[in-house]
Amino acid sequence: MVAMKDLVAFCKRKGFIFPSSDIYGGLNGFFDYGPLGTELKRNVKNLWWKNMVQDREDIVGLDSAVILHPNVWRASGHVDGFSDPMVDCKVTKARYRADQVFYAPISVSGKLLGYICVTDGEERDADIAKKTKALLKARNCSQEKPDEIHLKPLTEAKPEEFALIPSPATDKPGDLTPPREFNLMFQTQVGAVASEAGIAYLRPETAQGIFINFKNVVDSTRVKLPFGIAQIGKAFRNEITPRNFTFRSREFEQMEIEYFLPADETLWPNLHQKWIEERYQWHLSIGLRKEWLSFDVHEKKDLAHYAKACTDIMFRYPFGVQELEGIAVRGNFDLTQHQSCSGKPLEYFDETLKTKYLPYVIEPSVGVDRTVLALLVSAYDEDEVNGEKRVVLRLKPKLAPIKAAVFPLVKNKPELVEKARGLFSRLQKRWYTAYDETGAVGRRYRRMDEIGTPWCVTVDFDSLDNDTYTLRDRDTMQQTRLSEAELTAFFEKQLQ
Ligand code: ATP
Repeated sequence: MVAMKDLVAFCKRKGFIFPSSDIYGGLNGFFDYGPLGTELKRNVKNLWWKNMVQDREDIVGLDSAVILHPNVWRASGHVDGFSDPMVDCKVTKARYRADQVFYAPISVSGKLLGYICVTDGEERDADIAKKTKALLKARNCSQEKPDEIHLKPLTEAKPEEFALIPSPATDKPGDLTPPREFNLMFQTQVGAVASEAGIAYLRPETAQGIFINFKNVVDSTRVKLPFGIAQIGKAFRNEITPRNFTFRSREFEQMEIEYFLPADETLWPNLHQKWIEERYQWHLSIGLRKEWLSFDVHEKKDLAHYAKACTDIMFRYPFGVQELEGIAVRGNFDLTQHQSCSGKPLEYFDETLKTKYLPYVIEPSVGVDRTVLALLVSAYDEDEVNGEKRVVLRLKPKLAPIKAAVFPLVKNKPELVEKARGLFSRLQKRWYTAYDETGAVGRRYRRMDEIGTPWCVTVDFDSLDNDTYTLRDRDTMQQTRLSEAELTAFFEKQLQ
């Protein structure tokens, strides 16, 4: 698997993802997608939209505002409860999410020597080993073997333990502040006069925009339960410790579905399983590696008070196995809250049962950026061609930023260039195509392999005689001779 530092450098070098505000030193937790990243991200969103909305009869789309009435966030519980526990290192001023900092008592033959404390991430295991070794040395126990180490998140530390746990930055006990709650919503001001009444929030999820439009959608379309409302859009969270590249950022995009169903306890378990399977298959279909996908079924005790069940689809990123998508059964908590706080009836009239009720909802919610990152991790590969290292991005053709590249064999033969330009402009009308005439053909192939272009088409002297071209495949590197009609039929078939 590619190391994060190599992937981050690759993304910048090739124009997939840049740190945001790069020339000003970047802004932590924000990213800009470059020319190729923009295409890749757009392809992910378009495919999700096609598969989840347009290919189905039971889901409709929505595009709600980023800033909603502040009462939306009071009703949903975000104003009071959308927070993470935060701790600070008093000495270095480093700030951490308490559930992402881990501590462990270190003992030898049952005798406590002290505590170690590490942050989550790629370096965690190496840090544990280093800090344990240092503690043993400090206690003159370098020759001893420590007892088994049991790591726990800082949120589970008892108050009496807390004073003994060192800061992960200084390794000195007492340097950490006790955990306190930090609300993740970004505040802004609506209107010209700054006042309490004008405080609004950038949405921390797209889902609430769907709930508050539930009645509008029911009244304006012919949807019948079970049905879903889907939305793709930006979400903002003032994450305490944005990290792991785009995985945890402060501005990101979500693709969310609220799938409403009758409020009947016997119906949701089956539908929930169906959604889990459907979304898992979707992730496989876009090319995420099967061996790196897994499930995390939340235990009842870990669920939010209103939730009936939740399963996360997990992906093995280079920094560990982490949530890619959450598929939660939320009962009718959100609609109930919005009905009671707005005073507007939001009930659905069930024509079969001749009764009104607030439906239950299943919420498959996935991050666009986490999907793009998982795709890059899955697709990034290095191999060797004729003794030369080759970076190849094995993206599925339908997701590849550029579908095909056209090359004239050499650039100093006008008839070749003219024929290649003609083919390029015809292909470009249908698929995002590149034209490249600089350097040896081998180099041009490498450049396209690196950015995931599945096919290169070379126009050579035979093309002038018989109107056929060499199609070279990124993965097999095999070359076939095809006419233009055969080429386009091939692309059509592969990209459908
Ligand atoms: P986590 O536990 O990793 O913070 P979460 O459970 O808070 O995630 P949800 O509120 O369920 O996440 O959001 C749904 C999806 O939105 C997540 O599965 C993830 O793909 C994406 N997402 C959430 N927070 C971020 C973030 N800070 N940066 C990028 N994507 C995010």
